[in-house]
Amino acid sequence: RQRERAKLVDAHAFTAKVYHYILRNTAAGTPAMDYLRSRGLNDKLIEEFGIGYAPARWDTLTQALTRNGYELDEMERGGLISRKHEGDGFVDRFRDRVMFPIHDGDGKFVAFAGRLMSDGQPKYLNSPESPLFSKSRTLYRLHEAKGAIRKSRQAVLFEGYMDVIKAWSAGVANGIATMGTALTAEHAALLKRFADEAIVCYDGDDAGQAAAQKSIPLLEGAGIRVRVGMLPGRMDPDEYITENGPEAFVRETIEGAVSAVKFQLIYLRKSHILLEEDGKIRYLKDAIRLVARRESPTERELILKELAQEFGVSLDTLKQDVVDVRRQEK
Ligand code: ATP
Ligand code: MN
Ligand code: MN
Ligand code: MN
Repeated sequence: RQRERAKLVDAHAFTAKVYHYILRNTAAGTPAMDYLRSRGLNDKLIEEFGIGYAPARWDTLTQALTRNGYELDEMERGGLISRKHEGDGFVDRFRDRVMFPIHDGDGKFVAFAGRLMSDGQPKYLNSPESPLFSKSRTLYRLHEAKGAIRKSRQAVLFEGYMDVIKAWSAGVANGIATMGTALTAEHAALLKRFADEAIVCYDGDDAGQAAAQKSIPLLEGAGIRVRVGMLPGRMDPDEYITENGPEAFVRETIEGAVSAVKFQLIYLRKSHILLEEDGKIRYLKDAIRLVARRESPTERELILKELAQEFGVSLDTLKQDVVDVRRQEK
């Protein structure tokens, strides 16, 4: 077991080297280099993130692994190659994709994510679950970000690999991402070892905002304070940085991140029509339920003051509503 894991880590490191070499030093890698540059990644970033390219052939990696004495059965269990559908033998799992190596928290190579350069499905192909890799327990770039996270006790949580990379180039050294899946309680528990606060910085589209909403109770449940970094329109952090530059991103989105309850109220607004009286009442009811869940009396009062002012209701009335809800939910 232990030996097989070590062997697989070694094979992943070898594979990352092969893909990186192909990207940097071969004609087959040129379109991928052009693609990465068109997305704003320079040579330094490509090196730092160990990005590579898997050629559009069936046997590049399979052959390289064979030549270097790796057992193909074992490599298949590790998700680096696939069994042929018909007949014996193996084929490369990743073909014609830009390759992002994935590490565990200690910096060991454990998986890959491969992106197509043109439209097609799936846009990103990840390594399968393996003895080395569990996506519900892996946070992209934690091994590099954990120093900065520990120091500030704060992490910035993104949806996508590109978001982490572009944010890193903008000076955000504490950025991490899930593996294209929803945040889990395991992720939150892992993060809590390094951070007391998370800035959730998901895409501005509906899916991203809904995912941000769902991440709040999970993170708070692990004892992590949450703020949410918001983006205009439906942009994602990568697009925002490309369009508005690194300073604007750090200032507006990271430093300007709002508290969890503020975000929940903004999110709640979208599903209520506040022009109508009963829409307002329903919104306030839901808002009070959110406020009632906050443990800090100060936080509750600050939010209630704003609501009181906006809706022309007295603070005492709102406070009484909150007391009632808290009593019911006990
Ligand atoms: P890019 O900027 O390269 O287009 P993205 O990160 O903006 O990528 P999104 O569509 O916002 O891509 O998806 C967020 C994340 O979800 C991705 O980084 C990836 O981890 C995962 N993901 C997206 N599409 C797929 C897919 N088709 N299959 C598997 N995972 C995916
Ligand atoms: Mn998205
Ligand atoms: Mn995105
Ligand atoms: Mn993107």
